[in-house]
Amino acid sequence: MPLEFSHITLGQRVLFGAGQAVSHLAAEVQRLGAERIMLIASASQRELAQRVAAEIDVVVHYDNVVMHVPIEVAQDARQVARENAVDLLVCVGGGSTTGLAKAIALETQLPIIAVPTTYSGSEATNVWGLTEAARKTTGIDDVVLPNTVIYDADLTMSLPVKLSVASGLNGMAHCIDSMWGPRANPINQALAAEGISALVAGLPAIVQDAEDLAGREQLLYGAYLSAVAFTSAGSGLHHKICHVLGGTYDLPHAQTHATVLAYVLAFNMDAAPDARDRIASALGAEDALEGLQRLRHQLDAPEKLVDYGFTSDEIAEAVEIMLPAVPVNNPRPVTKENLTALLQAALVGDDPAVLRQSKFH
Ligand code: NAD
Repeated sequence: MPLEFSHITLGQRVLFGAGQAVSHLAAEVQRLGAERIMLIASASQRELAQRVAAEIDVVVHYDNVVMHVPIEVAQDARQVARENAVDLLVCVGGGSTTGLAKAIALETQLPIIAVPTTYSGSEATNVWGLTEAARKTTGIDDVVLPNTVIYDADLTMSLPVKLSVASGLNGMAHCIDSMWGPRANPINQALAAEGISALVAGLPAIVQDAEDLAGREQLLYGAYLSAVAFTSAGSGLHHKICHVLGGTYDLPHAQTHATVLAYVLAFNMDAAPDARDRIASALGAEDALEGLQRLRHQLDAPEKLVDYGFTSDEIAEAVEIMLPAVPVNNPRPVTKENLTALLQAALVGDDPAVLRQSKFH
């Protein structure tokens, strides 16, 4: 088989080091020559953000962070940036906080320094998201890609273990979907495989000890790789499903990804044997699904969508919204019937193995 593909590498500076966020941020602000900084962090992360910003001058703090970035919040934050003649956005927080910075940059073209405190990976993608009238819209624009990402595992110590597990599995979902996303190629597959290995190393370590620094570092490293792979491969079946569950039914982001992942893996894997074997090997397992399920069990991971507010009454409508968005090159053809079966199984936490191609009727 000839090796043929196209690949885009996004330009971004990444500074990685525990305990170094304060000095890394000060150096980056100086390098960029910024003088009027808007610091974005949710009210609960404000103190942490102020510690990170100890060596820079901030002209305005913005803390109205809301998950999935409602358009009204984005417009208010853009206005605040303009009124204060801001020349740099610094966001400290999870994907919701990074998402708000991206929404401001989308209209103002302001540069961003992102300091992530979860494993969502938003900081390493050029994907933005906004919610208007209960529908989430996403788009791709290089202007929202943070210029610099500062990773400091110390900042993730306070992320509760349950949320860390869900967030780390959100990273794992980026890796697995990258194996068969619409623009999957050998480069993002290699990054995804390394990302899975890092997440597999980090997740059990922090479940044993929430303050295991080496484990937290592996999770941040894996989260970054997962996002680079994902942004290159594009949204596969998994992300198209979760996008609707989050945007239309308001399910929580990381927990939804952590649940749905096993079902999409089971659904697609036998139609993509190379990806399946690569995922298994990165998980250190004979079989990809068994490896993922063993890990999820060990982590006491989220199990069923019903726990997050999804109901059986919503499945038919959800399938209608999801189907047109499914990439045409998904390894296995997706139909109304088999997508309904997938959601029914994920709703109640059935064994995902029932969805494997060989077992599905
Ligand atoms: P989040 O940012 O909403 O954070 C979840 C919760 O954790 C919040 O209550 C937050 O205050 C808290 N938190 C964050 N860091 C903490 C810390 N270190 N200690 C204690 N608490 C902490 O959740 P998320 O999963 O990181 O991000 C979800 C959002 O990001 C969604 O809107 C999703 O669509 C978006 N996202 C976008 C992309 C992209 O490429 N554009 C990628 C992934 C996620």
